[in-house]
Amino acid sequence: MAIVQVENVNKRYLLGEQEVQALTDISLSVEPGVFLAIAGPSGSGKSTLLNIIGCIDTPSNGRVLIDGRDVSGQTPDELADLRARTIGFIFQTFNLLPVLSAEENVEYPLLQLRELSRSERRERVKHYLAMVGLGKYATHRPNQLSGGQRQRVAIARALATHSKVVLADEPTANLDHKTGEGILRLMKDINRKAGTTFIFSTHDRRVMNMADRLVRIEDGQINALGMRAGDKWVFVQDRRTTDEEPEI
Ligand code: ADP
Ligand code: MG
Repeated sequence: MAIVQVENVNKRYLLGEQEVQALTDISLSVEPGVFLAIAGPSGSGKSTLLNIIGCIDTPSNGRVLIDGRDVSGQTPDELADLRARTIGFIFQTFNLLPVLSAEENVEYPLLQLRELSRSERRERVKHYLAMVGLGKYATHRPNQLSGGQRQRVAIARALATHSKVVLADEPTANLDHKTGEGILRLMKDINRKAGTTFIFSTHDRRVMNMADRLVRIEDGQINALGMRAGDKWVFVQDRRTTDEEPEI
């Protein structure tokens, strides 16, 4: 079963009197364990799509299923629970809480998981900070960490809740190339070892080349799906003209 299924999603924003069509008839099905890039130029709809998949935003029409559950049928409480347990988010600007230390930032979303005891929470925080190579920086605040280290904290935070799918919106855009590549390698390593599904957006060709699946989006529409075959991409043009849903 797909971990993420997007069916005929449209998103329109009202900007004053004007309507902006951010997404047009997006259909997409993501299998568990995939390392998927959503690639497209600025303004193409990448963030909108990730926010809708992550239940931060809702589609104007169409539906989204996460782990087989139609998110539009959920109450706000159920949705918050689904988000807390299933989805991790990594942002371009890291979005760490500045007054909290690295370990407190990672612990924060765990406070929503009531079944975890304090010591279980601490154990998880320790485990995931070590996984991202920040065991020694647990008590540092974000402003005492480099950009790459901050993004590592954000990765640990996204994983600590045992998310099945991690959504990362241009996770390397505020990092220099070498640091960004290190972040992508770390994500890929976790994807391989733990089987966590990653969906990340980027407009950087070098970053998209580290994915094993590619969705190319332009003007709010999917225009190609790519699959890695060795060191080459095999592109399947969007097949929405047939009734078949694109499988990636
Ligand atoms: P990307 O992440 O690929 O740069 P976005 O998803 O942010 O693209 O934006 C897609 C389109 O939707 C753009 O034209 C953008 O201006 C518009 N848009 C995004 N968010 C809003 C909003 N909250 N209100 C109005 N228009 C928006
Ligand atoms: Mg964006």
